[in-house]
Amino acid sequence: LIAFLLYLFYLVPPIGQLVQGGVQLQQGLAAMKRIKEIEELPAEPVSVAAPRDGRPAGVRFEDVVFRYGDDRPLVHDGVSFEVPPGGLTALVGPSGAGKSTVFGLLERFYDHQSGTILVDGRDIRDWPLAELRAALGYVEQDAPVLAGTLRENLLFAAKDATEEELRAAIARTRLDDLVARLPEGLETPVGHRGVLLSGGERQRVAIARALLRKPRLLLLDEATSQLDAVNELRLREVVAEVARETTVLVIAHRLSTVTGADRIVVMEGGGVRAVGTHDELVGGDELYRELAATQFLVSG
Ligand code: ADP
Ligand code: MG
Repeated sequence: LIAFLLYLFYLVPPIGQLVQGGVQLQQGLAAMKRIKEIEELPAEPVSVAAPRDGRPAGVRFEDVVFRYGDDRPLVHDGVSFEVPPGGLTALVGPSGAGKSTVFGLLERFYDHQSGTILVDGRDIRDWPLAELRAALGYVEQDAPVLAGTLRENLLFAAKDATEEELRAAIARTRLDDLVARLPEGLETPVGHRGVLLSGGERQRVAIARALLRKPRLLLLDEATSQLDAVNELRLREVVAEVARETTVLVIAHRLSTVTGADRIVVMEGGGVRAVGTHDELVGGDELYRELAATQFLVSG
């Protein structure tokens, strides 16, 4: 396994970019942890545990307090917000506000010190870990393209998906053009050792990979790299379409994502400072108005 992780580490291109900045390194490590966790799941966890429940899940944070270590500052100092099942909820706020930490806590990469986090009305500490993680699809910021073919990339965490499910995921994430463009289609090696994908394509590959696991809640940490107009439009379409079928919680760095959201949670200084729609927040929240004026794309 360690050899596999090292191998994976070297395949995340380019390595300099990953190491640049602690947050990115942290994201990469989270990705590896997750892959490690997937690898360590028993061979047939989901089907044995319970019939697969595909209903969209809701989330609730109640006065959540969290720090990364006893000697570290509070990241969440009483965070409360609610994500009803279904639809698109965006988390926004300046870099360091604790947005990505929300995802880390939901996945239980870390445990909060006080307060309550509910998924589907059930305390995440009462969920069997494998079941909780199976319910969540997590697309990390700048999610890596793995070595191997596009097919292998998509089926990485859903080895027994059918051809039909694969085609559906490709269509939903608007990857048909990519498949058509690649010399050997789905069997084309991609990533470091093959055809390099654009930032927008990588992000949609990561979304498709997550969707193939049929999550009840999709956690999407949007990439902060610039997208061209076509890729930006596609991302917006994909997110809107997925949000019709499941719950999507997106850490949004783009104005185009938040304007399409059903609700927006503005985080700052260890808490939630406002919740509303784009129009409500432009009218009512100064920080949000500033972020919107600069089109977001703050890093983190
Ligand atoms: P955002 O996503 O809003 O930019 P993060 O949740 O990534 O914010 O980070 C919130 C704070 O927690 C930052 O000060 C960051 O440096 C710190 N932090 C994030 N991840 C870790 C970690 N793994 N260990 C220690 N501190 C961390
Ligand atoms: Mg972040």
